[in-house]
Amino acid sequence: MIEAAPQSWPCPLCDRPCNGPVHEGCQAKLDENLAALPALYVELEDALYPGRRGGEGRTGTRTAPIPCNLDALDLRAHGGIEGILGSWEDDVRSILGWDLRPFRGSTQQTVIGCVAFLRLQLPWIVTEHPAAREFSDELRQIAGQARRLVTGEAPPRRVTVACPCGGTMRVTLDTPGARCPSCSTQYGHTEVLQLPAAERRVAA
Ligand SMILES: [Zn+2]
Ligand SMILES: [Zn+2]
Repeated sequence: MIEAAPQSWPCPLCDRPCNGPVHEGCQAKLDENLAALPALYVELEDALYPGRRGGEGRTGTRTAPIPCNLDALDLRAHGGIEGILGSWEDDVRSILGWDLRPFRGSTQQTVIGCVAFLRLQLPWIVTEHPAAREFSDELRQIAGQARRLVTGEAPPRRVTVACPCGGTMRVTLDTPGARCPSCSTQYGHTEVLQLPAAERRVAA
């Protein structure tokens, strides 16, 4: 066993020990989620009206219960992906004392512009922004949700994990974190997924 080196400190994106300012993998994953958003934004348009998907790839299993996918609509709307990215860009600009975010045009153009801005500032965000972890968690969530809508994949499986106090929490693999209902311990994304799985209750 190697003792934790004195110069190791928690990674700002996952809180696990790290020998540098941030885990390269954590930063790369965040950058990947950011970089994927402009294309996902466009692809979500197809997810809006699943019934329109004619011809190729029609499996018959992907039937749309409603004519318009409201989750896809929310993500594409003003305030969806665009709103989340815009508020993070505004936040970074305000901390750095920079000019206000310029008007870039359509919602799609705003998404493209915000992603370019945030990727450029990513090295600063991950090491200096006080809410780098929330930024990373939020990006994981919206990129994950958009990918699932685009691919028609089922939402992430829920697992039940056990807190050392005996309380249990139902979480998904992309959860930003959870609070134990019994002892109120707040767990982050990584910690909650490191908890042991709760004993499955046997159906009577
Ligand atoms: Zn990390
Ligand atoms: Zn607990």
